Amino acid sequence: MVEPPLILPVFLPSLGCREQCLFCNQKAAAKGLPSSSFVRNFIEASLAEIPYDKNDREKQVAFYGGSFTATHREDQLSYLKEVQPFLTSGLIDSIRISTRPDALDEETLSLLKEYGVKTVEVGVQSMVDEVLFLAKRGHCPEDAVSATLRLKRQGFEVGLQLMIGLPGDTCDRFLQTLDRIIELKPDFVRIHPTLVLKGAPLEILWRDGRYSPLRLDEAVQYLKKGILRLENSSIPVARIGLQPTQELERDYLAGPYHPAFRQLVDSSIFFDMATSLLQIFEKNGQAHFLCHPKEVSNLRGQKNENILKLKKHFKLSEILIDGTQELPRGILTLQTQGEEVSIHRKSLLFWCAH
Ligand code: SF4
Repeated sequence: MVEPPLILPVFLPSLGCREQCLFCNQKAAAKGLPSSSFVRNFIEASLAEIPYDKNDREKQVAFYGGSFTATHREDQLSYLKEVQPFLTSGLIDSIRISTRPDALDEETLSLLKEYGVKTVEVGVQSMVDEVLFLAKRGHCPEDAVSATLRLKRQGFEVGLQLMIGLPGDTCDRFLQTLDRIIELKPDFVRIHPTLVLKGAPLEILWRDGRYSPLRLDEAVQYLKKGILRLENSSIPVARIGLQPTQELERDYLAGPYHPAFRQLVDSSIFFDMATSLLQIFEKNGQAHFLCHPKEVSNLRGQKNENILKLKKHFKLSEILIDGTQELPRGILTLQTQGEEVSIHRKSLLFWCAH
């Protein structure tokens, strides 16, 4: 498996933002943009801290926050130019930027190519017009389609960022969004549940009772369906949920937040796999499962929650779990009398409950 690059993140809050998106508080929380000399010093300091055993990994400077390509060309160039000496010397391998879909015309892409940008993350959020309109994004689904196709044609690595739980969004609409995203074949996808943050316009709607965020368990169900659909199409999911940071802790008001969201979702998938096996095969009061050692904790669930639920639901006195390197990840095996039956996570069915 190819290791992901080491990211040296430079945060450029609200850079190039035209309006304030409903869910975003970057304008309210921003402390100002870093200078280009700060970028140079930051890269030097970050490189010095990379442990020796990680030095052969690809190193990528990432300009996150705001919409990089929607800002003035001189500002884009001033940041990109700071990275050039590091690219020339080979200390940095490439650049990553994040931006909005309607700020990626051919001329912009040529500039990005010229300055060593390899990866472009596009804030798509939803492929449903009404959801984008209510979120005050100022772009439409077709902008995401044309930007992705242009980026791919020019040979960029493309990541698409999506959100769940925005006003007007539903599970069906999220799955419709995914179907369109899968057609575009991005290199990876990120999915963020919508949170209510201090200073974001969404805070007002939430305080007035005009917006209710998803519950944590609802978000897990949405994400489970999403991840399985993407996995079945061989599209990697880079991250789900926002990084736990001091800023997030300070600004978080409501919504489905968990520092280990991915594990919650994987545990829920393993619960469904175990349930599918136990529904069909004999139990005799106990069950013996086998899975890859790194997935034992997913099968157990947080605080053994899956085990407790399975025992209760199937009236089992004991559930044994063994981790074995013989099983690849993603497979769960149930030992029955003299037989073994297995399920792959990709074979789970997923649908929306109404
Ligand atoms: S979500 Fe992105 S484009 Fe929208 S206001 Fe925030 S930083 Fe700007």
